[in-house]
Parts: sequence; structure tokens; C-alpha cells
Amino acid sequence: MSTQLDTNRIPAILVINSGSSSIKFAVFDDSDLSELVKGQIDGIGSHASFKVKSPDQRIQEAITWPLELAPQDHSAALKIILDWLHHDLSHIQILAVGHRVVHGGPKYFEPVLINDAVIHELESFYALAPLHEPHNIAGIKAAREVFGDVPQIACFDTAFHRSQSFINDTYALPRAFYEEGVRRYGFHGLSYEYINSYVQQYLPAYFGKKTVVAHLGNGASLCAIEHGHAVATTMGFSPLDGIPMGSRSGQVDPGVLLYLMQYKQWDAQGISDLLYKESGLKGLSGGLSNDMRTLEASSAIEAKEAISYFVQHVQQEILSLAAVMQGLGVVIFTGGIGENSIFIRGQVMQGLQWVGVEVDERANLGDAAILSTTSSKIICLRIATNEELMIAKHTHNLSTALLTCSVDA
Ligand code: ADP
Repeated sequence: MSTQLDTNRIPAILVINSGSSSIKFAVFDDSDLSELVKGQIDGIGSHASFKVKSPDQRIQEAITWPLELAPQDHSAALKIILDWLHHDLSHIQILAVGHRVVHGGPKYFEPVLINDAVIHELESFYALAPLHEPHNIAGIKAAREVFGDVPQIACFDTAFHRSQSFINDTYALPRAFYEEGVRRYGFHGLSYEYINSYVQQYLPAYFGKKTVVAHLGNGASLCAIEHGHAVATTMGFSPLDGIPMGSRSGQVDPGVLLYLMQYKQWDAQGISDLLYKESGLKGLSGGLSNDMRTLEASSAIEAKEAISYFVQHVQQEILSLAAVMQGLGVVIFTGGIGENSIFIRGQVMQGLQWVGVEVDERANLGDAAILSTTSSKIICLRIATNEELMIAKHTHNLSTALLTCSVDA
């Protein structure tokens, strides 16, 4: 916590979201948390490319490297980002770095200052999120190398769901499994937390009501929120459960997996690839695409069936979460599909007419936040999520609190 303030530069927060072959980043002004730039390096280890955009979507940088010059690991990619910030954003000073971490295990229900012990503990969660956690930690290690003693804060996608009751947090397995960590952790928590705080701040008339947020992107889940707290969610122990996703299966009878193992001799890797990479919209559309835009544009029967399956499962889960809350006042659409697909939102809402949703068709076609009519018993909203801003807020709050403590001490 010894960062020396340079009064000639704008104090800023850097947010890092490190995936398997990409690092997304965003820089926020620490004084008002306005976004300064956002960018990403994709294709780390192969044909990497680098793109930076300003908040008005102007491209500030776009590079595609030949293979021999491309960054080969997260550390090299992060150094490129930092060099770019030094040269092209030399008027900023990074005060703290916020990291998205997919899994906080049973312990972490709020953001935490990263140190060696925290990293060690997060490494023990690799088995809980093998496709995400190692890359998140690679990003943290690379950032620590590059930024020295600048405080680094971990923000967890599972944290928001830690308010779930035992009943909504467990499976009906022997209790010892719950104790050892086999729980319904839930994911997309930073998105749900952002949406929740957005409603509280900008749409307070709807805050605190029995709400289902549908985060519909490539990864997709839904979350029941009541009185501003998470009650239940569709993803569980892993980000595979719940509704079908781009290439993830969503809920499958575990008996299917036993069948694959016992009668077809599939091993764990084969089943993992099937469930994470070959299923969902991609699998149902006969391999056509995991991308909703492509499916909507297709006339193939398989594409239409994939969309119907997706829509029906979103409807089912909205009502299942309503049953958990014993009521439903607000449905909120977010994520790439939820924010942008007029068709999917329209289909989902039409299928909920019988429980009291009245769709405002014109609002659904435009940019409006409120998609239901004034007489609708259930309010439907569309809100763009901003997980990076949520991480920036947490990072600002925790690093400021830590600084205050160290000054007081
Ligand atoms: P991720 O989980 O990778 O963050 P996103 O939230 O970016 O995913 O959502 C990606 C999904 O959103 C893709 O299926 C994409 O086709 C879909 N999408 C984006 N824009 C539209 C649109 N205008 N209409 C339909 N689907 C869209």
C-alpha cells in the first residue's frame, strides 16, 4: 500500500479479466469511476491481436501480430498492455488492479486483497473451475510481476450467491459432500451485483421486489434476487448447470453421464469436452453455431429447435426461481443475448403472458429499459451489464479502505 501519488497524473483503476487465451482490460478514473479505455488481447499463444477502444467506441489501437512476434503467455500479453498504457495513456497512474476471479470457493463472499496466501488458496480451487480459475490466477501472477507493490484485489463471480440458504446451496447428496465443498456456488455474480446496484440507483421503484435476472450470453444463467440479496441461481457447482448455453449443455440427467462411462467407456476428458464445448446451442443446432445471431439468421430446422429449447428453458427457470421466492415482480434481461436479441426477449416474454407479463412490443424493438406495458403485473426490464465497472467499484472501495487503515495506523 505504498503507491506514491503523482499529482500530475490521473489516478486510475485497472481491471483485468483473464481468460484461457485472452486478457480483457478496462481503465477507470479513480475519482468518479468513469471509463477511460477498454481493450483486449485475444489469441494468446497463437495469432494474437490487440484492440483498445475509447468509451465512445472509437478504436484507439488495433494490432494483429505475425506468429513469431505474438505474446506467448499471459505475462507477455500483460506487459504489452502495460507498455501501451505507459505510452498512450501516460497521463494516468494505476493505483490498484482489480481482477475477475471466477471461483471464490465456500470462503470468499466479498473482494479480497491478494497476497501469497490468497493465491495459494485460490489455486486449491482449480478443481472447482478448471477451465477458468488457472487462467485467472495466471493473470494475477503476471500483474503482480508487472505492477510490483500496487494493490491487487480479487473480485469473485461466486461471491454474490453466498447469501443463498442451505436449501438453495446444496444438492441432495450425503451431507459430507456439502462440507467438502460440493455446493451450488453459482456464477455471473459480478453481473448480478451490478444489475442489482443499477436498479437500486436508477430504477429504485423496482428495487427489492421479487426479481429474476436472466444473464443470457455465451455463458448463461438466471438468478433470483429478493430484498437486494441473491436467493437462488441456475448454475451450481460448476458453470455447466441450468439453461443451455453457447456450447455448454446446461442441466443434463447425471444418468446420461453414467451411461457414457459404463456403456461407452468415455473418460473424464471426453465428457468434459462434450459438456463444455460440443453441447448447448452448438450441439442442438447440429454443429451449426454457438452464436445466437447465426442461429437467428438460419432457416435450418436444427437452428430453430436450438432456439426453441433455449427459450423454453429460460421460461422454465424464471418460473422455477419464482417458485423459490413464492412470487415474481420483475424480470431483467442482460448479457449479449438478453441486451440485444429482440427476438429471444420477445419469445421469452410472450411465453410468460399467462402468468401476467404484458409485452410492450414497441419498447422491445427499441432501446427502452422497460419492456412491459404499464398494466403488466410483472415488470420486464432490459439493462446492459457492466462487470468491469463492478470490479472497479470494489477495487476502489477496498483499496481506499486499506489506504485509510494504513494511514490511521
Ligand atoms: P460472453 O458470455 O462470452 O460474455 P456475451 O454476453 O458477449 O457472451 O454474449 C454473446 C452472445 O450474444 C452470442 O450468442 C451472440 O450471438 C449474442 N448476441 C449479441 N448480439 C446479438 C443480437 N443483436 N441478436 C442476437 N444475439 C446477439
